[in-house]
Amino acid sequence: MPLPTLTSRFADELPQAGVPWPPATAPAPRLLFWNAELAAELGLQPGPGDDLAALFSGNALLPGSKPFAQAYAGHQFGGFSPSLGDGRALLLGECVDTQGRLRDLAFKGSGRTPFSRGGDGKAAVGPMLREVLVSEGLHALGVPCTRALAVVATGDEVIREQVLPGAVLTRVASSHLRVGSFQYFAARGDLDNLRRLAIHAMARHGGADALELLRGVAQRQARLIAQWMNLGFIHGVMNTDNMTLSGESIDFGPCAFMEAYDPATKFSSIDHQGRYAYRNQPLIARWNLARLAESLLPLLADPDGPQADMDAAVAQVTEVIDAFPAWYDTALREGQRVKLGLPAPGAAHAPLADEWLALLQQGEADFTLAWRRLADALEGQEAALHSLFMDSTGLAPWLQRWRAACTASPAELRAANPLVIPRNHRVEEALSAASDDGDLRPTEQLLAALRQPFDEGADARYTQPAPVGQAAGYRTFCGT
Ligand code: AMP
Ligand code: MG
Repeated sequence: MPLPTLTSRFADELPQAGVPWPPATAPAPRLLFWNAELAAELGLQPGPGDDLAALFSGNALLPGSKPFAQAYAGHQFGGFSPSLGDGRALLLGECVDTQGRLRDLAFKGSGRTPFSRGGDGKAAVGPMLREVLVSEGLHALGVPCTRALAVVATGDEVIREQVLPGAVLTRVASSHLRVGSFQYFAARGDLDNLRRLAIHAMARHGGADALELLRGVAQRQARLIAQWMNLGFIHGVMNTDNMTLSGESIDFGPCAFMEAYDPATKFSSIDHQGRYAYRNQPLIARWNLARLAESLLPLLADPDGPQADMDAAVAQVTEVIDAFPAWYDTALREGQRVKLGLPAPGAAHAPLADEWLALLQQGEADFTLAWRRLADALEGQEAALHSLFMDSTGLAPWLQRWRAACTASPAELRAANPLVIPRNHRVEEALSAASDDGDLRPTEQLLAALRQPFDEGADARYTQPAPVGQAAGYRTFCGT
């Protein structure tokens, strides 16, 4: 088969940013998921002689692959850990895709590394297929995110609260550079490597200096978080090691999509304070960017140089961090404008959107379906929309004002408001079948629906919220 030969730019340019490390051997590898579309995009066209289960479990390696456990630091729930790193992941290398873009290939669940601390380095089938469902779902919704290329069951056991089947995920990303990658060298006062890391990051993500790099990251993250918010997506663990420089969503552990609209929604069982609740996501993104800015400061002014230089550098990065809320707001409002089908500039769409969200909250309406049913309302079918609200007081007059302002066609509204999202109860159902019974069909069927999120013909199984009661107590777990 044409197998791409991987490069090892990261490992070669930044030998201090990790440790060369081999993946663990999988006793009985079995391919559970293969992303043929993504493989084609990477120029990876397996032939009959190619053992995908071996290649994507780590028992064999792609040509050129030099597995490397990356070092990074990170603020986890606000507390700083100077050494996190790939405790159960490995960067395999990079490849140039068919569009000329450099992409990282990495394993997750490939065994212990020098960064594993107390962990076992393993991942279970359920959480790795969860990454597949959520990342493929987000991708189909047009949200930048890392992609899943393959999941291989290792034949190994993973001990969590119960004994689970083990798996290795192969993840594809524009890079695995995170805010925490910069914090790692900044925390050590290692300016030489910090500079090299910035040069590597600029080569991959643009920017002529550290300030431009920061600005680019902030603008990409502003757009990304706005997309999350307009889809009701809650990442759940926005630690600085889970925030990319590329602006791609990464790490789909305790994430979930909101059903009944409530800005205070959180799902993660370990997020006691609601730090990563839905409404806090833009605030946390800005906080994380401020940590990136701090880490980059020594590149903008010599820490041992005149204080005036450092003051000027602080002022420069502060300007970027202070601009973030406006960039976010612009992206959020633009998204809302398209979702409401309002004409381009000038229209006072913010109040209309804010009142709509207030109605959704008051009526505990399903976030996804409420937006989607606007198209039906435009066609004169309001019953389906009304039925989503526990209390629809105020909806009728709002609809009247909205209809007067809306210039989009029902088809345009449907193209902006998905019908299918990875609903929590369907994801759990599919993962249980795969993990407990080895039955991959529910996962495959759900994945097929998630890949056509705007299609009105979707099976009602995948469009309806969880039965009342089931949704209320939904919790996600970090113990992946
Ligand atoms: P996450 O919350 O999944 O982004 O992971 C945070 C940190 O914990 C990273 O440094 C991971 O590599 C590490 N980690 C998570 N799970 C494991 C595991 N099973 N074994 C070793 N390290 C892990
Ligand atoms: Mg992570």
